[in-house]
Formats: sequence, structure tokens, C-alpha cells
Amino acid sequence: MYATAFLDLPALSGASGAVLLPGSKSISNRVLLLSALCEGTTTVHDLLDSDDTRVMLAALRQLGCGVAQDGTTVTITGLGGRLQKTQALEFFMGNAGTAMRPLTAALAVMGGDFTLKGVPRMHERPIGDLVDALRLLGCHIDYLGNEGYPPLRIREPNLVLEAPIQVRGDVSSQFLTALLMALPLAAEQRAITIDVVGELISKPYIEITLKLLARYGIAVQREGWSRFVIPAGSHYRSPGSIHVEADASSASYFIALGALADGQGITVQGVGVDSIQGDIRFVEAAQLMGAQVSSGPNTLHIQRGAWPLKGIDLDCNHIPDAAMTLAVMALYADSPTTLRNIASWRVKETDRIAAMATECRKLGATVEEGPDWLRIHPLPAGAWRAASIHTYDDHRVAMCFSLAAFNADQVPVRIEDPKCVAKTFPDYFEALFSVAQAHTVPVICIDGPTASGKGTLAARLAHTLGYHYLDSGALYRLTGLAATRAGLPLDASAEPAIADLARTLPVRFQGEQVWLGTDDVSEAIRTEEAGMNASRVSALPAVRTALVALQHRFRQLPGLLADGRDMGTVIFPDAPLKVFLTASAAKRAERRHKQLISKGFSVTLDSLRADLEARDARDLSRSVAPLKPAQEALSLDNSELSIEASVDQVLAWWQRTQPF
Ligand code: C5P
Repeated sequence: MYATAFLDLPALSGASGAVLLPGSKSISNRVLLLSALCEGTTTVHDLLDSDDTRVMLAALRQLGCGVAQDGTTVTITGLGGRLQKTQALEFFMGNAGTAMRPLTAALAVMGGDFTLKGVPRMHERPIGDLVDALRLLGCHIDYLGNEGYPPLRIREPNLVLEAPIQVRGDVSSQFLTALLMALPLAAEQRAITIDVVGELISKPYIEITLKLLARYGIAVQREGWSRFVIPAGSHYRSPGSIHVEADASSASYFIALGALADGQGITVQGVGVDSIQGDIRFVEAAQLMGAQVSSGPNTLHIQRGAWPLKGIDLDCNHIPDAAMTLAVMALYADSPTTLRNIASWRVKETDRIAAMATECRKLGATVEEGPDWLRIHPLPAGAWRAASIHTYDDHRVAMCFSLAAFNADQVPVRIEDPKCVAKTFPDYFEALFSVAQAHTVPVICIDGPTASGKGTLAARLAHTLGYHYLDSGALYRLTGLAATRAGLPLDASAEPAIADLARTLPVRFQGEQVWLGTDDVSEAIRTEEAGMNASRVSALPAVRTALVALQHRFRQLPGLLADGRDMGTVIFPDAPLKVFLTASAAKRAERRHKQLISKGFSVTLDSLRADLEARDARDLSRSVAPLKPAQEALSLDNSELSIEASVDQVLAWWQRTQPF
């Protein structure tokens, strides 16, 4: 997951390959709650690991459910509809509507002393219609803030089950879903009827609810989309084990990707057109716009068909979440696209109609909007603008706008707060980068004399930008170590053999750890001796050549921070920013001294300074890859600067090269 303040996507040129999608949020949270409400143990496979499911799992633990997690498999020991009512409980629901609504209903029907709260946005998302319906049933619920909105306080109910319960269906289908999952708890003795008032929106989500209820032993009878009857004697039964399908709305980004990116096409694994999720009908919308889609069991393959895409006019009520993706596809169409019947967008994570309109306009598009519709005009070549996309703590806004990086004008796209995708798809950008190709992956090169702090600076910058990090010195250290272990002399006599070793180094970087084959060599390569050996093998031209391909492989989306001697001159000469970091010999000796003392080595400052000056002289004068700044490198003397100030300075230089 990218936890950076922003993520810059360079212009993307194409995409091909396969992605395995995470489990559906809607199915995951329904299955968790249903497993908690039934008696016995349920093993849930392929559960989504996301903010929303974590909120639900935490709540279930608080309620006393058994929860055992092993990767994406979670075993839930249910409550059997009965709670241990010993103490008042307070639940934090974050911004998870799929946890807040059904839990409110289930807790209100079971009774106890509960408080349910969320983030500020959750306190702006309506829940009044659900509370009204539950109150009709005799549930005891109070508003702790504004009428009609969370936070809520729930007490013991006094259930009256005679008359049909009425619930509005035109604000959020989650209210009906919540009642459908809670009321079987009260239907042991008599049937319970729910009447939907107003046109029911998002019917496909109700279908998911009904299909999952059936898996848990509850056969709801449906009369059209306006009356639902939970039969008398209903009783939750665990299915024993259940698989969560991949999220069909998450699939929409990769279906769109296949439709608009040049390449061999995209294969989506985890969901096929026979999915129980309504959002799978996004496939039809994408086909209308020109995508070529084929499907197998639990997989989809998508290829570019019509290009440019075709503008469409579509009622999107059946695919409310996935339809957001159409708004960005519309930028690549031959005529305007109108998305209708999307009023529910206004009460989601953010006002999604306003958000999509605002951000599409930032890219240069003409957009019209109404209370329940949105019209996006295509963006022709020459009209795209580089934009910093605000994401409103809304995962779908972030994921949708990543698709703007395929624009004809090759302008980059900045996604603010990229971690908001964690709500449903924490590794969305990793998945995108695994199949997308860029026109050019940006590289920032940092070089400088030994102990100038270039490694620390480069690593911090990589962290800030979400870029990969190449510590080229480590590759020479590894080569030196591998050659020593192979018993080779580290001089010209063994040059071809050391070069062979370097070409096939079985190296793996994992956070701070460095592996050579199955050996963790993180410490072994950091000794003074390893540094000396690195210096010796790095003076062999064949070794340097052998490491070029490996270093190029680090240049991956979204970008690279490359640290070391010839990064800007030889390895990445086209890097848009090259920095030469210096500090006085006195300062560098002081820093290295502190570092060594803290590690328990006893050295004198004077001897260190003498060593540094000798190494500088050797590095400056050596014939192979001597220490010298790349021609266009910007010099930064950090003798009097803190690390933070150095990072800020280089970031400021980097921002100057960006169009945002
Ligand atoms: O940066 P570090 O101290 O890990 O580098 C070890 C040695 O490897 C350096 O002293 C230098 O001689 C060599 N090196 C190189 N080219 C690079 C990186 C390091 O020659 N790109």
C-alpha cells in the first residue's frame, strides 16, 4: 500500500498481463456478520483485508465472537443470535457503511447497551430511514449528534412484530440489507414482512444479500422489489465454509484498463460474468463503449476494441459503484457520455457526482451535472492538463483517476492521499503497476562522496514519493561478498569470473534486508571490509558492465531513486533530476564517527578524517567510474543541513520538474 501524501503516475503507454483481485467488500462484510449471527463455526475463504472488513472484525471480537485469522482465511465462531449482555460497548465504525448499517440493525434487534460512532464523514452519512424502520419494530435507538445521522446509542428493544415494517428504498439499499440480515433473529415465532417505500435503488446489492442469506439457511420470499417476507421459523445455519468472490467493482478498473490500453489485453482473476454481484454488469457497459470481453469460470479477459471508445447514454442504477469508472473512460470516447439515475452517488464516501465533475474538469474536460446525472465530454489530444487529483477519502475516486494516466498528451497524474484505496483494494496501485507500462519511468539520481549522507537522503526521498530505491553500492558489496565466498581474488586476474557472478547475482531486497540466495547478508555487506571489497570489484570494467542490466531492472513504476557513483552519468543518463550531495570532510568524518561509536566501534575522529580524505582522493582519480558529478547535476552541500532540510530541498527541486 502507498501511504505517501501523494502518488505521481507518469504517463502510461499500455498494459498487459493478469491481476488477481481481492475479495468483494460487500460480500466480505455480509459474510462476516452472517457468520457471527449463526450458531457454530464458519470458515471464510478469500476474505478481503481492508479498512471496512477490519472494522467489522473488530466489532465482532468486541461482541465476543471467536475470530481466528490466517491470511485471507478467517474462522468465525458465531453467537447464535445471543449476546453476553454484561457491559456497555462502544464501536468505532470508521467510514465503513457496510459495517455501520447492518450492525446497527443486528444490535438493535438483539439489544444491549451499545454506542456506534465513526469518522466525521460517517456522521454526515444518513441512517435515519433505517432507524425509523427499526423504531417501528420496537427497537430503542437514540441519536447522539444530529437527528438522522450517527453516532447512535442502542438499548434493549421491546419488539412488536405484527404490522409490516416499512423502509425507504430510495436513499441507500444498505438499509434494506441491514433489516434483511437482522430480522431473521426475530422471526423464530412468526413471519416478518418488510415493505419498501419508494423505488428501490441498487437492486443488485439486495440480490447479493438474498443469495447469501440463502447460503445461511434463510429463504426470504420476495414480491417484486417492494415486499420481502422472512418466513416464520427462520434460523441462521452456518454453511460451514464459504468462498468470497473477488470484487466486481474493483474489476471495473482493470476492465477499463483492458479497454483503453494498448497491449495484449488484461486477464482478471477471481470473478467472471456468472458472478452474484450486480456490478459485474459493468462488463456490458464497457462493451457498449468498445471493450472486447471474454469470460471463463471466475476469470475475465479484456482487450481494446473500438478506439477511441464510444460515448454512451446509460441508466447506471444497476451498477452504482462501478459506473464511476465509466466517467473516466468517457474522457477517451468519441462523443459525450451521460450517466443517469445516480442520485445515490451524492451520499457515498463523498458526494461522488460533485467529486467526479470537479476532478474531470481539472484534467481539462467539460462536464455537466444534475441532481442525479453526469455528462462528460471527451478530452481530445492537446487538451489534457496535468492535474493533482483530490480523492476525498474515497477509494473509488483514487482508483478511477489512475486511468487518466493513459492520456494522449502524455501528462502525468498526481493522486492525492493514495492510501484511501485501502477501503477495498489496499494494493490497487501495486496491481496497476504490475500490468501497466509507462512511456518513461522517472528516475532521480543521488551521488556524492562517501559519508555524505546520500544513502539516507535517497531512501527518505524514495519513501516520501513511494518510489523504488536502488542502493547501487550494495550491488558492488554483494558482488565482492559473493566473489570472496567463491574464493576468487578480487583483482583483474578474476575479472571474467567475478563479472559472471555479478550478472547472475541471486539478490533480493526486502525492506531493510538484503538476501543473497537464501542467506540474509544485510549485516555482512555493511562491514568496513565489505566496503573495501566493493571498492576493489567496482574498479573492474567487466563487473560494472555485468551489473548494468540488473540496475536497469530497478527502474519500475511509479519511479526510482538511484543512489551511487555512475547513476546519472552511465546507468540512467536520461534521469530528469541528478543531485550531487557533498559535505566538508570534517563534517562527514564527524557523522561517520558518531555512527561507528553508536555501533560500539572505537575509532578516533582524526584517523577517520584521514581515511575519508584518502578515499576521496582515490575515488576522484581512479580511471574507472571516478567520483564526479554528472554534468547537469545540482549540487547540495549539506554540511550545515539536517536530513529533513536536505530532503525538503531535493523535493523542491523535484517538484520544479513536475507540472502540478
Ligand atoms: O555506497 P557504498 O559505500 O555502499 O559503495 C561501496 C563502494 O562501491 C564505493 O566505495 C564505490 O567504490 C563502489 N561503487 C561504485 N559505483 C556505484 C556504487 C558504489 O563504484 N554505483
